[in-house]
Amino acid sequence: MESTYRIKGATGDWEVVIGLEVHAQVTSNAKLFSGAATAFGAEPNSQVSLVDAAMPGMLPVPNRECIRQAVRTGLAIDAQINKWSRFDRKNYFYADLPQGYQISQLYHPLVGEGAIEIEDGDAVKTIGVERIHVEQDAGKLMHDQHPTRSYVDLNRSGVALMEIVSRPDMRSPAEAGAYLTKLRSILRYVGSCDGNMDQGSMRADVNVSVRKPGDELGTRTETKNVNSVRFVMAAIDHEAKRQVAVLEDGGAIQQETRLFNPDTGTTRSMRSKEDAHDYRYFPDPDLLPLELDDAFIEECRASLPELPDAKRKRYEALGISAYAANVLTAEVESARWFDALLDTGAAPVAAANWVTSELFGALNRLGTSIVDSPVEPGQAAELLALVADGTLSGSLAKQVFEAMLETGDAPGKIVEERGLKQTSDTGAIEAVIADVLTKNPKQLEQYRGGKETLFGFFVGQTMKAMAGKANPQVVNDLLKKALAS
Ligand code: ADP
Ligand code: MG
Repeated sequence: MESTYRIKGATGDWEVVIGLEVHAQVTSNAKLFSGAATAFGAEPNSQVSLVDAAMPGMLPVPNRECIRQAVRTGLAIDAQINKWSRFDRKNYFYADLPQGYQISQLYHPLVGEGAIEIEDGDAVKTIGVERIHVEQDAGKLMHDQHPTRSYVDLNRSGVALMEIVSRPDMRSPAEAGAYLTKLRSILRYVGSCDGNMDQGSMRADVNVSVRKPGDELGTRTETKNVNSVRFVMAAIDHEAKRQVAVLEDGGAIQQETRLFNPDTGTTRSMRSKEDAHDYRYFPDPDLLPLELDDAFIEECRASLPELPDAKRKRYEALGISAYAANVLTAEVESARWFDALLDTGAAPVAAANWVTSELFGALNRLGTSIVDSPVEPGQAAELLALVADGTLSGSLAKQVFEAMLETGDAPGKIVEERGLKQTSDTGAIEAVIADVLTKNPKQLEQYRGGKETLFGFFVGQTMKAMAGKANPQVVNDLLKKALAS
């Protein structure tokens, strides 16, 4: 990672310090304290219970599934699970918050200290996670549908969020990007959040400060609700440079909340930072503390799938390159597809190379993703087996794969129908070689005169004459013999 990322100033180099607070929407059919649905994109105010609309006398009932997902997430980052936690009210007024308070967890979060590893090649860095707490989302205000009115949609009101708070352990935009990407990957493996940043399922509050290397932590600003990895990196870059300029100008950084503008890549001040006491936090009297027993936690642990780091290491142990292992495990769907391919008994290294180059290349060209791959793992296994047993050369396999994409047919059928089999018939190949040598007397003379680089030319001519179907190894051997005689 860019451990030496620095911002150059007139007074010397500055170091950037970053901590992220990620809000991740919990995957669950119902809200945190009500039975209303949580589907994205529903008709406004069609998924609002009396609890979510804060009707007087309504009482919240914790949704076990949301708690379960948060615990599973905590276990996935090796975090401390607090068997006793409690909900607090965070009081503020805003039109998207009918209760007048958000139910959150300030003093006793569900999940304590954990860690997430980020990699850059062989270098690994551990980013601390301070806590994960569970809280309600607010509704959504819409100001632009009508020239003079604002509307409120309470569908999101009461939806469960996990707030995942990192330690201030990141030192460059790239590290923050890697952390967010890794966190998203883990959440998607666990299935506790869909990670759809463009739908707002995951958004980050970006805390940034700068200091001279070795100094105490500087005063930070917090840029709210940044909703893509790229924007997070841009916000950090802009904010760090702005702070350096202010400090070098003899100014001081105000601890404040800022907003990111994706169109300009800049941040601007929104309000001065509020402290916990501004919110008059107090334990929610409508809710009992959450008490978890060991059986529940163990059930959560047992339900976890193999996670990206473990999977990557397993792939590498099979001989797959670190690069390919990374590419294959980054997205849970790719990893599942590849695991299904391995389950057929395909040779791991050849399979990894084929998936990362041929399959991903084709999906890219077709503008589709692995979830909608036109080729199933079983068909890919069949293709790889035809290469492994010598029926197909690499270039024939490419032709067969193209045909598979076009027709959806099995590779064996394509090979039969189109006669794409590779031949190792020495008699046939020798005849073609003899012909190639007769037709290229000048090159033959040069080769025999010592210009050995022409060997490739003869290979090419022979393969061409055989429409690419000759076994390349056999061609090599027979050509060497023919040229030597
Ligand atoms: P608050 O409760 O006021 O939001 P926290 O101590 O919970 O403050 O920290 C919030 C986030 O800010 C955390 O992700 C933390 O890592 C980050 N953070 C704290 N101090 C700094 C700093 N000096 N520079 C950058 N980030 C910081
Ligand atoms: Mg905070």
